Amino acid sequence: MMLKNVKYLLLLLVPTLLYSCGGDDNIADVAIPTDTVPAPKVNMAYGLNLDSFIVKEGKIKKNQVISEILLLNHVPWPEIDHLSKKAKEVYSLRKLRSGKNYTVLCKNDSTEKAQYFIYEANAIDYVVFDLRDTMTVTIAQKEVTEKRREVAGVINSSLYQTLIDINCSAGLAMELSEIYAWSIDFYRIQKGDKFKVIFNEKWVEDTKVGVGEIECALFVHHSENFYAFPFEQNHVIDYFDENAKSLRKAFLKSPLKFGRISSSFTMRRYHPVQKRWKAHLGTDYAAPKGTPILAVGDGKVIEARYKKFNGNYVKIKHNGTYTTQYLHMSKFASGIRSGKYVRQGDVIGYVGSTGLATGPHVCFRFWKNGKQVNHRTQKLPSSLPVKKELMQDYQSVMDTLKMQLDGIPFSDGNEVEGQIS
Ligand SMILES: [Zn+2]
Repeated sequence: MMLKNVKYLLLLLVPTLLYSCGGDDNIADVAIPTDTVPAPKVNMAYGLNLDSFIVKEGKIKKNQVISEILLLNHVPWPEIDHLSKKAKEVYSLRKLRSGKNYTVLCKNDSTEKAQYFIYEANAIDYVVFDLRDTMTVTIAQKEVTEKRREVAGVINSSLYQTLIDINCSAGLAMELSEIYAWSIDFYRIQKGDKFKVIFNEKWVEDTKVGVGEIECALFVHHSENFYAFPFEQNHVIDYFDENAKSLRKAFLKSPLKFGRISSSFTMRRYHPVQKRWKAHLGTDYAAPKGTPILAVGDGKVIEARYKKFNGNYVKIKHNGTYTTQYLHMSKFASGIRSGKYVRQGDVIGYVGSTGLATGPHVCFRFWKNGKQVNHRTQKLPSSLPVKKELMQDYQSVMDTLKMQLDGIPFSDGNEVEGQIS
């Protein structure tokens, strides 16, 4: 901030010299070697030429109100009041928060009256309060540019720390965990796991503001390679591996191979045992006692126990998003206990009527982001591979990306940014 002010100050001083030559257009005519004197450029920001104002920058202090800043810059009360009313519909002055950057552009004359108040709502969005005559308030965005980066890292402690070490934002971890949600448990990443990613980083001026598209990635987990390449089909971009298989996995439609739905998910049903109306946050599948109950997807058993109402039940966490639960089992399958990893279709227990149940059935419960939902009405991720007719397209895109990815070294030379050896 201080440095910038100095820069503006210099720019305010320098142009007087240049303008004596007749303005920007004539500067090229002046025979000064360009390598000794930097080419002057118009100091633009927020779509305004800062050179024509006195520029005052600051951060909103705790409990500071905009009127205080405006009064200091010679905007009288009635005008502030008018602005406040005008701003209401676009960006209320009440939304201004302490710690945020602002810029006041004042008239470059003896009045030094504020002409613009610019508030940086975040790294990208800013609000221009035009204080001249009619007063207008507009929200605008700074230009976001994307830079392609190729990074590689070997995990020593955590993925998060490794990303910090190679100068990547934590947002990249979020993106990766999303792409790999169905194949890698990011809570179980171990030392020695490694990754390579080619992605776009979003920048506003000199500030990194986010992660753009992930062009491709490789995650080596427990020495197994997991490639990810984005590809669009059916108007949706999804990630596929080197064999054109989707990185997502579908759930089984039901935890039983055979069985009939005896009670659906509903917010209101008459409970046959409790004899009262209550929500039924699951789907009941009736089947003979002893019918095998299958895990609907890969995951970790987080509970396998008995409870008065649930009877014997198993709860499986599939990834950061989905968890399923299976109630009233007559018994667990052998080896099923908390902490055990199961694969889709594995038998985890057998139909019974333990707990609060009138007859043998499995009550299947489904959580999405911690909320119980009806799995039968959920839009669950597609797990279809790349279509045959698109295979050639995929192959050519994938081959190029894979070659680039494979060319990124994990630990020698300096060509990879911030790598860990
Ligand atoms: Zn039920």
